[in-house]
Amino acid sequence: MSLLGAHISVSGGLHRAIDRAQALGCEAIQIFTRNPLQWRGKSLSEGETGAFRRALLASGVKSVISHASYLINLAGDEHVRRRSVDALKAEIERCYQLGIDAVVLHPGSSKNEDPALARNFLAASLERVLSDTDGFGVPILLETMAGQGGVLGSTIEELAWVMEALDWDPRLGMCADLCHLFGAGLEVGTEGGYERLISSISLRVGLERVKCWHISDNKGARGGRMDRHAHLGEGGIGTVPFGILVADARFRNTPVILETPKDGIGDAGNLALLRKLRGSW
Ligand SMILES: [Zn+2]
Ligand SMILES: [Zn+2]
Repeated sequence: MSLLGAHISVSGGLHRAIDRAQALGCEAIQIFTRNPLQWRGKSLSEGETGAFRRALLASGVKSVISHASYLINLAGDEHVRRRSVDALKAEIERCYQLGIDAVVLHPGSSKNEDPALARNFLAASLERVLSDTDGFGVPILLETMAGQGGVLGSTIEELAWVMEALDWDPRLGMCADLCHLFGAGLEVGTEGGYERLISSISLRVGLERVKCWHISDNKGARGGRMDRHAHLGEGGIGTVPFGILVADARFRNTPVILETPKDGIGDAGNLALLRKLRGSW
């Protein structure tokens, strides 16, 4: 059984996310440790890290994932790359201080320039981050993307290329996002499609590298390269792969994080659906 959870707000303080997770019965959560739309994050006080760690320890939450800032682009121009390397290093330090298991990262964007060059920039930036944060040991999970506008990471092959370029550093992992994979063109809505995806991941990067899943339906079409999250079953994917995934013994103890909209049935409704689906597979 995977660890079911959602992206949870830290409004009012990081430890408040744990209270919200408890109220929803989450087994895993994803948070932003800082405002994801700003470069500068203030450093954590001992009071903050202590309150978070105590709340986490006393809770039923077994795994916490951080989602890195949206501004980070390890494949951007030189100025952006430098800022991005610093921001990701700071994020990894915060994860270490807070006892967070891994950080999810958007691989970056070529801004429609040469994708091969962008991939090389991404690998070089990651190499720098990995070597400068060696002591913290926090895994970096490259997220699969829908492939909109020159965004890297829309294929498993591309993520595999990055890992290969970094000699399969053990701290590199993958966050498989079903909404994005569907947007990038993979047929993930059926049992057969799900199995083909798993085989592809297994063959190219190894299932043990998948340390997080993101789930939501997609309002766009398959292959539409759109990243438009919808409630489970309310887009082109349906509910089939979500049910199979949460019952899949190969992802026992792997966080499966809802990134569905907060309106309508909200996290509580989607979690209830997942628990029902988990029982039926
Ligand atoms: Zn993301
Ligand atoms: Zn998305």
